[in-house]
Amino acid sequence: MTDLKNIVRKNIWNLAPYSSARDEFKGTADVFLDANENPYGELNRYPDPQQKAIKQRLSKLKNVKTDQIFVGNGSDEVIDLAFRIFCEPGKDIALTFTPTYGMYEVSANINDVDLIKLPLVDDFQINTSQLQTYFSDENLKLIFICSPNNPTGNNINIQNIEFILNNFNGIVIVDEAYIDFSSQASFINKINTYNNLIVCQTFSKAWGLAAVRVGIAYANSQIIQLFNKVKHPYNVGTINQNAVLNALDNQVEVKQRINQLIAERKRLRERLTSIKKVNKVYPSEANFLLVDIDNATEVYEYLIQQKIIIRNRTTQVKNCIRITVGTPEENEKLINTLQNLT
Ligand SMILES: *Cc1c(COP(=O)(O)O)cnc(C)c1O
Repeated sequence: MTDLKNIVRKNIWNLAPYSSARDEFKGTADVFLDANENPYGELNRYPDPQQKAIKQRLSKLKNVKTDQIFVGNGSDEVIDLAFRIFCEPGKDIALTFTPTYGMYEVSANINDVDLIKLPLVDDFQINTSQLQTYFSDENLKLIFICSPNNPTGNNINIQNIEFILNNFNGIVIVDEAYIDFSSQASFINKINTYNNLIVCQTFSKAWGLAAVRVGIAYANSQIIQLFNKVKHPYNVGTINQNAVLNALDNQVEVKQRINQLIAERKRLRERLTSIKKVNKVYPSEANFLLVDIDNATEVYEYLIQQKIIIRNRTTQVKNCIRITVGTPEENEKLINTLQNLT
């Protein structure tokens, strides 16, 4: 078991958090003259700093306790907070497996933390054979695992993630931004087994709320307390919290859309495979496809001219582009445009 006190920055461990007016008064009242708010208007009150309504809903949905949930201003806030809580700038280090989501590296750089990047091997899986030497480095505090991985689209093998959880004493962040499109089970149900596990999910992808900026971290309550202590007091606005609650009220529709996108992913993959310039369409457990294509950069620029924007990933995976699954009409437009390019 990881002893949290040993891996949290001293100043954070000792930090007395800001106590907002909304934190201090918990009961019901008629007159609120405590927070210097304007008494007029519709959005005049500060949002709930603890996002209690969202946590109650997620607690039932995910079968975790409300104190095992952190609600962030996007997953980006969760990633940044992890660095700020666990990594001493200029001293501690983090590790991830590449190619992967670019924010781990940007966030590491912002926080002056070195990020070790180990290449994914054979079908973009983790090579566990050399990890033990990294585990013994006492400055290694964070390991980021993205599953399904962006931009490759595959699930990371469960046994390999568990190997890391069992052998590494620092924090393991499993980024499940695309889990709702995946056939693999979430690691959320393992937060009671591993006290060094943080599972990160988002409302930006499967829930269709990228504009709302809400990301979630699930972990044991001690870790969640640290996140709450370090976050900005009012980190998620009322309009954004309400948008999430609204989506949680419409789960049937959300689920239907997910199924539609998964069906469309299969169709798009078949259509792309039939295009001559396409060498390979990697299998995907997410809402995008990694495509190996002749002259990836030229294809990318040609598509821009045709007003179709995809992601050029050739610097990450040679000759590859990443295509998000859109509506059937959008995908057809892409296919027709690619067919014209011979
Ligand atoms: C899109 C994405 C996210 C989502 O980030 P938000 O800040 O919640 O929008 C997180 N992780 C990965 C790997 C992603 O691709």
